[in-house]
Amino acid sequence: MPELPAKPSTIASHQLAAIALDVLATNSATPRQIAERQASRWASLLQAALGTRYYRQALQGLDPANIPLTALPVTDKPAMMQRFAEHVTDPELTLEGLQSFCADPQRVGQPYLGRYWVWESSGSTGQPGLFVQDEAAMAIYDALEGLRRHSPRPWVRLLDPLYLGERLAFVGATGGHYASQVSVQRQRKAQPWLASRWRSFSILQAANALTEQLEAFGPSIVATYPTAALLLAELALRDKLHIRPAEVWTGGETLTPAVRSRIEQGLGCALRNSYGASEFLPIAWECGRGRLHVNADWVILEPVDANHRPVPNGQVSHTTLLTNLANHVQPLIRFDIGDRILIEPKACTCGSALPVLQVQGRRDDMLVVPGRDGSPVTLLPLALTTVLEDQAGLFDFQLRQLADGDWRVTLGPRAARGTALRNRYRRVLTDFALAQGATAPRIVICCVDSLPLSASGKLKRIVAVPAAGRRPGAAAR
Ligand SMILES: [Zn+2]
Repeated sequence: MPELPAKPSTIASHQLAAIALDVLATNSATPRQIAERQASRWASLLQAALGTRYYRQALQGLDPANIPLTALPVTDKPAMMQRFAEHVTDPELTLEGLQSFCADPQRVGQPYLGRYWVWESSGSTGQPGLFVQDEAAMAIYDALEGLRRHSPRPWVRLLDPLYLGERLAFVGATGGHYASQVSVQRQRKAQPWLASRWRSFSILQAANALTEQLEAFGPSIVATYPTAALLLAELALRDKLHIRPAEVWTGGETLTPAVRSRIEQGLGCALRNSYGASEFLPIAWECGRGRLHVNADWVILEPVDANHRPVPNGQVSHTTLLTNLANHVQPLIRFDIGDRILIEPKACTCGSALPVLQVQGRRDDMLVVPGRDGSPVTLLPLALTTVLEDQAGLFDFQLRQLADGDWRVTLGPRAARGTALRNRYRRVLTDFALAQGATAPRIVICCVDSLPLSASGKLKRIVAVPAAGRRPGAAAR
């Protein structure tokens, strides 16, 4: 889920300049200078956190001037959502108020209460989260995104550092208050002249409608998810999409080397990957050596094992605890984000001292299904999960394509299971498949007490039938 580059906002211009200069200076900082920034920002975050009921209780009896990060409890999205009011520093931020704001898609990209930016996370852990930040945090995300990304066209960026001459197409889930969509709409509303140059395109529409819109727009940069970029690349390779972007930005899902080279080949341009989360948008950026550098001056990542004990550099963690040093409104401290990461033991040869990480993030499959015109249709995992979440309110599930072409939707313990709802799950999936030009799938629904986890211990929500398991003429032709 790539965020978008910096643009001026409502906070004072000298504050924006200070943030930008600091982000630039940290690009060439030593590990010690980065650690110093982390330490002073941790102290500020701790002060802010004491403004919440949750952390006042958690820190009772401790000396606020001398509390190490690891003294704080681990928390996660379900726990935070359950006691939402105790995790925010402004009592005007109520769960009810925010949920009603997010239920209105017309308000995407508008500030809540005139001063907060809000987005919902996807429900990959079975429950959506609500994340709130102020303008200062947004300015930090913007600066990190705009000033750290390594450009494959350095001369163009030197002449146009604010991307004013670019036509930027965001291809993703556009119907709700998702972080990337909020980011695009916020920039477009703040800078009306951007409205014609930055556009969002929905992945929920049929591929031919998407290609028509993209061709009419003619993007110079495409920002999207690896699976959506791969779909566009395949369409371009089949001569069904004619766009000439100069860069493609990806994020939000795992990007394998094979998928990267296919996308670069299909779209005919360089790809820059990133790693972010609803809890902190620009966690890591890709350098000229193709490595992901953590923005460790503003976010702390702790790779840990299943018992939340630290995992040494060079080893893959079971999960990751994230501490957002920029958000003082809803302090996220040692927040379990579920991703498996590895911090490289050695510094990168590009010269940045910011730590390098590898990430095993979301790995849902694309489904290839028979089309009504006889040709195969590709269904994107993000589109499938979005229709189930947004149109049917289903978050705790796994959708598996079976060898005979049927789809099996397995409902987890937190999913509503009534007959009317099951029919709704079937209907939204069928409507989506038909809108994509696919034949109507046969959908079976079953219930379990706990959803099956993959070998890595994570829930894969969309599972394609392995190519070897397909029966001729069934799942894909
Ligand atoms: Zn590097």
